[in-house]
Amino acid sequence: MNTDDALLAAAAPAATASSAADDEAAKKAKKHAFEMNKLSKRLHRQVGQAIADFNMIEAGDKVMVCLSGGKDSYAMLDILMNLQKRAPIRFELVAVNLDQKQPGFPADVLPRYLEGVGVPFHIETQDTYTIVKKHVPEGKTMCSLCSRLRRGILYRVARELGCNKIALGHHRDDMVVTLLMNMFFGSRMKGMPPKLVSDNGEFVVIRPLAYVAEPDLETWAVHREFPIIPCSLCGSQENLQRVLIKKMIREWDKEYPGRIDNMFTAMGNITLSHMMDRQLFPFTTIAPTGKPDPQGDKAFDEDDADDCGSPPTGAEGSASAAGPAVQTVRFV
Ligand code: SF4
Repeated sequence: MNTDDALLAAAAPAATASSAADDEAAKKAKKHAFEMNKLSKRLHRQVGQAIADFNMIEAGDKVMVCLSGGKDSYAMLDILMNLQKRAPIRFELVAVNLDQKQPGFPADVLPRYLEGVGVPFHIETQDTYTIVKKHVPEGKTMCSLCSRLRRGILYRVARELGCNKIALGHHRDDMVVTLLMNMFFGSRMKGMPPKLVSDNGEFVVIRPLAYVAEPDLETWAVHREFPIIPCSLCGSQENLQRVLIKKMIREWDKEYPGRIDNMFTAMGNITLSHMMDRQLFPFTTIAPTGKPDPQGDKAFDEDDADDCGSPPTGAEGSASAAGPAVQTVRFV
């Protein structure tokens, strides 16, 4: 055996090992690409479905897409931009970020990203941080004043930019957590709407991520390498109860998969006669009709989910459960 043959023979086992590792890596990369493609399709389908179900975007709309620098708002903009390219109608998007002058806010990150993706944008700089710090005593939560100021500024910006709609990045889990927060601490059945007129009556606020599960947004943010800006710069803690409830629903969902989806679906599937709001159902004036009604009171039977059939799960379920959907434009 000459020297070259000896060297090749010595290298052979290593070469075999490294090609097995390469195969494994290639298999993993293929699986990852497959999963991300599936996730991309799901996200675009869910956002398109929410837009269609609630008639969120119409021809000629100018939508102000509120961008905080967190994973949710990046994903919202990303998906809306893709849907805009395929939509059969023309509408405008303008990304808006409010730089509240929180210490350490990396002011260059968002403009660089937005220029890179080629979306019209506006960065509004207003030092609300100093105002909030000045007016809220140390140790007290700053969020309520901060969000009130932010809301006023964003309405003004929307007006100046000529936007008629404001898109916010709240998702399915935010909506369920809000419902539970309102039940636990506000004694009312009130969630977070996918679409509603703003409190000043001037704009329509839309939540295109309404059908999207938060874990999907977490994965998408990593996959798309969004330059996330931490949300703790103001030094105020996120509402502790909200954090606890989010943790609670995630644990439930782990133990009983589909529970968050079912709670979410329930928000669009309300039987008023089986609640007890006298403003919404005429309990005080009802009388026997003489006709059988499957929705009537089953007297001694407990009217649990088994009696009602399996509730629909997921966004599609909620869409159909919510009644005839308004579908002026198909985005999916
Ligand atoms: S967490 Fe900070 S930035 Fe967010 S609302 Fe509260 S005070 Fe404002």
